[in-house]
Amino acid sequence: MTQEQERKPGPGALRDHAVGRPFPTSFDASRLPSARSVPALGVGPAPEGGTGRIGIALMGLGDFTLRTVLPELMHSERCALAALVSGNREKALQVAAAYGLPDNAVYDYDGFDAIAEDERVDAVYNVLPNGLHADWTVRAFAAGKHVLCEKPMANTAEECLRMISARDEAGKALMIAYRAHFEPHNQRAIALIREGALGELRTIVSDHHRILDLSDSRDVWRADLGLAGGGALPDLGIYGLNAACYLTGHAPEEVFARISTHREDPRFSEVEDQTAIQLRFPGGVLCTLTTSYSAAGVNTAAAFGTEGSFFMQPATSYRGNTLTLRKGGKTEAIDAGDGAIQFPRQFDHFAAAILDGTELLTPAEMGLRDMRLIEAIYASAREGRPLSLNPDGTVRGP
Ligand code: NAD
Repeated sequence: MTQEQERKPGPGALRDHAVGRPFPTSFDASRLPSARSVPALGVGPAPEGGTGRIGIALMGLGDFTLRTVLPELMHSERCALAALVSGNREKALQVAAAYGLPDNAVYDYDGFDAIAEDERVDAVYNVLPNGLHADWTVRAFAAGKHVLCEKPMANTAEECLRMISARDEAGKALMIAYRAHFEPHNQRAIALIREGALGELRTIVSDHHRILDLSDSRDVWRADLGLAGGGALPDLGIYGLNAACYLTGHAPEEVFARISTHREDPRFSEVEDQTAIQLRFPGGVLCTLTTSYSAAGVNTAAAFGTEGSFFMQPATSYRGNTLTLRKGGKTEAIDAGDGAIQFPRQFDHFAAAILDGTELLTPAEMGLRDMRLIEAIYASAREGRPLSLNPDGTVRGP
């Protein structure tokens, strides 16, 4: 077991290249819908309620896109699937046919720039491995499109700054897909704290774990430092980190972290396994986060105040999240609704920012802050000491 060492991409790093991949291990292509069974697609006025729709090009047809993003996009009132971007044309054509898209709405990486002329496409949703977020977001801005980018925003804060410059130059929107902000139990949890239901907030605890499995195609790049940017921390720990900030309503003032990794485990020759993080927030609120690629899957969040507490397990799943409030000797299970609504709400919010000028709830600056916090966590673990932080996540002082 070693402490965190200097992290360098290994010789297998593929980060410069977006490439085609077969259908993901865990996805059964026979479960693709038939074009007849999906709602009518196309960019045009929303059926009811909205003032318009934007066309989205999905970039990267991997596990998350196929199993979750595509089916959930069908529930959005203000975003419509307009194109696919993939290096595997055969796979992409099969997916396009299933979702009722014409063949000329399928782009590959080499021919991507032609999307600039495609008026069906207003925005690109970047669902590529983390190490490809920066370059392909910049390419999408160069093509004159808005961008919704998966978490983590990129591999480094420097890459985030490059994405923000490209956004500003293009005059387009850049939103980070922090879906928990749109999830009803997380929204209720924030409201409980803001309303003072817990009294004065004192501590927060959040754990995000799952087993990294190299026999699953989606986990192969997650063990490659160039493509993943790190291990369980940027992949899973970012949920707890982001939650600590939205629950407290602040960025942390201080961080102290420990990392432990069995470097002889082939999964962890490049990326870290486990991290334990202590954060101190304004007002003295303390937060403990753990994240692991070698502990069985779990995601939790709990907040403790002077008058009560709540516990969420799961806290940040796609659906089925729970929120249990303990106060005055009573325990109340709060049902805030179907968690799956987080996906269409996230899409509709992105569309509202583009069409109506609504302020983004999860802007690029939040992705940059979190990336700086992740860099500070790695630095604290490496140096074995707490680090003071500025509100933008940068490390204060020497
Ligand atoms: P995945 O491996 O299943 O999909 C990645 C896809 O990117 C591949 O299918 C492939 O088509 C494409 N690709 C292009 N170049 C590649 C390269 N050099 N190496 C590997 N793939 C390449 O991974 P995933 O689990 O779908 O994750 C994709 C992104 O989505 C990541 O940024 C991840 O953090 C994010 N994600 C977010 C959530 C969430 O809940 N918000 C959940 C899962 C994944």
